[in-house]
Amino acid sequence: KLVLGIETSCDDTAAAVVDETGNVLGEAIHSQTEVHLKTGGIVPPVAQQLHRENIQRIVQEAVSASKVSPSELSAIATTIKPGLALSLGVGLSFSLQLVHQLKKPFIPIHHMEAHALTIRLLNKVEFPFLVLLISGGHCLLALVRGVSDFLLLGKSLDIAPGDMLDKVARRLSLIKHPECSTMSGGKAIEHLAKQGNKLHFDIKPPMQRAKNSKNCDFSFSGLQHVIDKIIMQKEKEEGIQKGQILSSAAHIAAAVQHTIACHIAKRTHRAILFCKQRHLLSQSNAVLVVSGGVASNLYIRKALEIVTNATQCTLLCPPPRLCTDNGIMIA
Ligand code: ATP
Ligand code: FE
Repeated sequence: KLVLGIETSCDDTAAAVVDETGNVLGEAIHSQTEVHLKTGGIVPPVAQQLHRENIQRIVQEAVSASKVSPSELSAIATTIKPGLALSLGVGLSFSLQLVHQLKKPFIPIHHMEAHALTIRLLNKVEFPFLVLLISGGHCLLALVRGVSDFLLLGKSLDIAPGDMLDKVARRLSLIKHPECSTMSGGKAIEHLAKQGNKLHFDIKPPMQRAKNSKNCDFSFSGLQHVIDKIIMQKEKEEGIQKGQILSSAAHIAAAVQHTIACHIAKRTHRAILFCKQRHLLSQSNAVLVVSGGVASNLYIRKALEIVTNATQCTLLCPPPRLCTDNGIMIA
């Protein structure tokens, strides 16, 4: 069986052909990151237009790379939610046209479920396992009990960690930094953090109060406001204008990354303990899968490693190209 997967939920136009054993026969992707970096965020109608311009070529490239003819496909799978409505619409209408033309079955795909299950292309991970999805648009912890059986344990009450890192990077004007000009916000923060002292500022991790400790939810917007205030104060102290690079930018990057890592690690620790206590996860060989663009951050991964080592869990992380949006996970 051969499945064509199509993904257009956000800012990547992606397609892939995968066989029933998980072999990737062909893949293509067009990223809009550079365009959105210039506007300082995704403008939905612009994303929609770029999807429209690229979808036919990307699907054609994936199918020709797979060396199968369209008539040999067994089904067409497409992301239907969640995501930007305008972006999702382009992939969906293109797929439905193709489904009609080729007379193939259509498989609607939940984007987050696809992210959660991607690891099974690479490792023989048995159900149930725990998944942490941390990206620019999402932040959630879920117990994966089967291909379509998920128990949501926690989610961000406000923005996602990648979104927060992108906002801080923009506020620090890292796009003008000679070493970071082509990097996403999160990657720029990770790069700069290596040159800073994470304890230079005294920042409290989010959700420290007792009433917040009773669940596995996340919050990042309060932390973002704290960082904004620090940046404003430093701009005053250093006598520089908004838009110029602070001399303390590296310390700020290190502190943000450290605080986010602590918060994510603590909530994940809580979820592991909860699942083990209730016998929802194996006591001796539980697995934590971490995916999403923010999962490529090595400092955050280290923090998660400390948690999994302390709780006798195995930490698994798909490679970056499978952590971010792609057609393979949809197929
Ligand atoms: P979603 O997949 O939830 O729809 P998205 O398309 O924004 O949203 P991804 O493509 O998975 O998500 O990830 C992009 C996000 O990951 C951006 O916010 C980016 O800043 C962040 N990111 C990328 N590299 C790193 C890194 N090394 N450290 C931290 N964050 C990173
Ligand atoms: Fe995604």
